[in-house]
Amino acid sequence: MAASGGYSRDHAVVIGGSIAGLCAARVLSDCYARVSVYERDELPSAPANRATVPQDRHLHMLMARGADEFEGLFPGLLKDMVAAGVPVLENRPDRIHLGAAGHVLGTGHTLRDEFTAYVPSRPHLEWQLRKRVQEIDNVGIVRRSVAEPRFDRARQRVTGVVLDPLDQGEPEFVPAGLVVDAAGRGTRLPVWLEQWGYQRPVESTIDIGINYASQQFRMPEGLIAEKVVVAGASHDQSLGLGMLHYEDGIWVLTTFGVANAKPPRTFPEMLALADKLLPAHFSAALVRAQPVGEPAYHAFPASRWRRYHKLDRFPAGIVPFGDAVASFNPTFGQGMTMTSLQAGHLRRALQSPVDDLARELNRATAKTTYPVWMMNAIGDITFHHAGTKDRIPWWWRPSGALFDQFLGAAETEPVLAEWFLRRFSLLDSLYMVPPPRIIGGAMRHNMRLWLRERRQAIKDRRGAVTTLRSL
Ligand SMILES: Cc1cc2nc3c(=O)[nH]c(=O)nc-3n(C[C@H](O)[C@H](O)[C@H](O)COP(=O)(O)OP(=O)(O)OC[C@H]3O[C@@H](n4cnc5c(N)ncnc54)[C@H](O)[C@@H]3O)c2cc1C
Repeated sequence: MAASGGYSRDHAVVIGGSIAGLCAARVLSDCYARVSVYERDELPSAPANRATVPQDRHLHMLMARGADEFEGLFPGLLKDMVAAGVPVLENRPDRIHLGAAGHVLGTGHTLRDEFTAYVPSRPHLEWQLRKRVQEIDNVGIVRRSVAEPRFDRARQRVTGVVLDPLDQGEPEFVPAGLVVDAAGRGTRLPVWLEQWGYQRPVESTIDIGINYASQQFRMPEGLIAEKVVVAGASHDQSLGLGMLHYEDGIWVLTTFGVANAKPPRTFPEMLALADKLLPAHFSAALVRAQPVGEPAYHAFPASRWRRYHKLDRFPAGIVPFGDAVASFNPTFGQGMTMTSLQAGHLRRALQSPVDDLARELNRATAKTTYPVWMMNAIGDITFHHAGTKDRIPWWWRPSGALFDQFLGAAETEPVLAEWFLRRFSLLDSLYMVPPPRIIGGAMRHNMRLWLRERRQAIKDRRGAVTTLRSL
């Protein structure tokens, strides 16, 4: 393919064949003659857990927005997932139990706008994407580990990647006009940048100290109507849980602790937590749950955002992608959806006449990352006792307190609950700052509540006085 923006479009390389790598490969296949995805892990030919993505044993929520974006990248995906048994919740908010920051949202009401959610397991979703990428003629997925990108100092650009040797062989150089770093949160790109004479990106971190413990299980069909169950941690409760009903009738129960709290380790202990955090009808059903396989554990010390967009200089020929840029508090379930949004940015950057692909992509990614990162950080600092070395803007804590009020009102006000559900699912504006109309609704609700409580208190006091007098 013709050179564009000063680099060849003959060959692009993607490091990592997980969700981000597969999305990048799909986009690149339209713009490059050849695309090679190098993945160090064994890639199963059917949905299965993988060694280098330990998070795939734990609850993975696909946000409604992510489903839309993945469908845009891979037309027909959603229909095929449903045909393969993936549950779909079409305008059925009553199938969702959404507890956030100690409030259970009133999502059981009729929604005004279309809302569809899909509930594939993480291995199933990845397998569906991989199958589709493998079918693209000009894309190859190869099981090889990338040692490092090769940097040409004279041209200040990456010219390809060096693959780790096979058996006793030699490292192998693969030339490429573009390298996409989709190696996940553990990427070494910041180190490589420094070695090449660039600055490392500033990293924002929120020390959330999350510990996960998950167990898959089966239980007789129809005992629970809900297929998506979330009871997030709150200010007074550092343990939370999520439960999803995946394809093949399999369920996953993930329990977690924030601020380094330890979740239960055995299935009976996990069920005891569910008993405490969920309404009674869940416990009644869960007594019939039969565990499948062993429990899995995972620690996630901090959310991390590498702010590549702030760098004055960035080498040509390489871009960071997916969790390699930002990995969000997983209990909010946003990572895959944020990656799917970034795929759109990559497509637009590749189609843009501007020369500096990395700058274009890094900026666009920062724009969608910022609101979600900020809202998560406010929530984590206000409700989850998270720490950070970053400077906290003065308005974060008051915003968190206001948001708490808002969620309280959303327990019984369907309009507010729907507003939250759509933002939580990243369907509408990524900013969680409610417009005045919605804030007004929350204030009116809380005012009514306060007045009712005051009136009741006065009534109780009068009652007590009358009782005393009659004695
Ligand atoms: C516990 C947990 C729960 C989560 N829950 C959710 C959720 O509910 N919803 C959601 O949307 N997101 C969730 N996420 C986030 C989600 O898993 C990621 O956002 C998503 O996997 C995209 O990540 P990625 O593809 O960038 O990186 P990863 O999935 O980490 O994959 C990186 C890939 O790169 C490969 N690789 C690395 N280095 C090399 C190399 N040198 N050579 C070749 N290959 C290499 C690895 O083998 C791996 O396959 C969760 C994350 C965690 C940790």
